[in-house]
Amino acid sequence: MPENPSGAPLEQRLARVETRLREAERRFHRPPGAVQLLPVSKTRPAADIARVARAGYHAFGESYLQEALGKQQELAALGLEWHFIGPIQSNKTQAIARHFDWVHSVDREKIARRLSAQRPPQLAPLNVCLQVNISGEASKSGCTPDELPALAAGVSELPGLRLRGLMAIPARESDFGRQRAAFRRLREARDALNAAGLALDTLSMGMSGDLEAAVAEGATIVRVGSDIFGPRK
Ligand SMILES: *Cc1c(COP(=O)(O)O)cnc(C)c1O
Repeated sequence: MPENPSGAPLEQRLARVETRLREAERRFHRPPGAVQLLPVSKTRPAADIARVARAGYHAFGESYLQEALGKQQELAALGLEWHFIGPIQSNKTQAIARHFDWVHSVDREKIARRLSAQRPPQLAPLNVCLQVNISGEASKSGCTPDELPALAAGVSELPGLRLRGLMAIPARESDFGRQRAAFRRLREARDALNAAGLALDTLSMGMSGDLEAAVAEGATIVRVGSDIFGPRK
């Protein structure tokens, strides 16, 4: 079996992440399988995606459009589901609307309107999460918590989109309690939108370094790259 540069074979790393996730579900009283593991395959070759697909995964997260489109073509026979999780410029919306099943990183109405208008009518509406800048970092993408209610209300009306939930990439934090506090803010934002009449079923939060804290706070999708595929260059 070919080795990853980081040491353990991909299948072993994947199994370790699965164990972490199932243990976190148990520890925090989530139903078994309540949290979907989304392997994040940005910068990884198609061959590695195919190996993870053989291990039972059908959905993959990508951040860079051109790279993703190439791998989608190579792997077309596998019928995979693709999630766009990177920053979105206006000139990328048409290809994203055509070639992805989910977008986790919508953070302004202009982008949402373009994605909706450009979604091919023969496809199901594009599943969308709104990215929220939950830690208030100036450098991060995401709408502010203050902007969220109006953005969510607007996006929920767009016919080409299906608003599913919220996504965040909190500031890197090693303390478990602080990791949880950031994810809790995203969950509370989701709960407030649902109380106002939306029906959001998705919290996309948690990565290699903080997936346990995200599971504790109600994540339904964790997005894991390096702990599955090895460190990125
Ligand atoms: C790269 C990336 C991930 C995965 O991060 P790891 O720390 O490698 O697990 C998750 N979400 C987004 C939005 C990313 O860009």
